[in-house]
Amino acid sequence: MTDPAHVWHGRVQHHLDAAGRPALGSMADWEVFPFERDGLVPKPIGERVVPEPDRSRPAEQCGTCKALAREDLLLHTGQRLAVIRPGGTSLMFVANITSQQHERLDDLDDDADAELGRLVARTYRALKALPGVGNVQVSKWENGGGHLSVNVLARPLGVLELRGSNLPIWADMLPNIPQAEYDARAEVVRAALA
Ligand SMILES: [Zn+2]
Repeated sequence: MTDPAHVWHGRVQHHLDAAGRPALGSMADWEVFPFERDGLVPKPIGERVVPEPDRSRPAEQCGTCKALAREDLLLHTGQRLAVIRPGGTSLMFVANITSQQHERLDDLDDDADAELGRLVARTYRALKALPGVGNVQVSKWENGGGHLSVNVLARPLGVLELRGSNLPIWADMLPNIPQAEYDARAEVVRAALA
């Protein structure tokens, strides 16, 4: 059978320059795109790598497992899932909905799926209710680490440049908020999730 991803990759070649780079897309003209169009250079798309390298880490090397073991980073313990936060953030608040064990979204059963939906909604609302939060974005990118993590990111109110799906790129460029401020908000979120 023809590999559909091989077909996809072949089709894309006609849209790349000699170095394998695509042209900038319309997103570069978005009002909320973090970079100015001039000088932006897309990375080349190289050969496919199949099978893909295993990016998973054992539980002993997993940052999510380490965070789950820290009382200050653990915000809520559910049936099979939990809510944690990273040690620092440049945003108003960041939470991660994760499994208590070192497992992936692929491993959850129907009950855990339902718990995940509830926790995403409750965590979203808890962050949205924090003073100074304009909006809250939810995403799931973790595929390699081997530990389920749904990211919930709270944007500062009125900072319109940070709106939308580029919020994590902005978060990476901006300085962390003071730890005491972040810790105080964690108490509010913990209480809201209890
Ligand atoms: Zn883990």
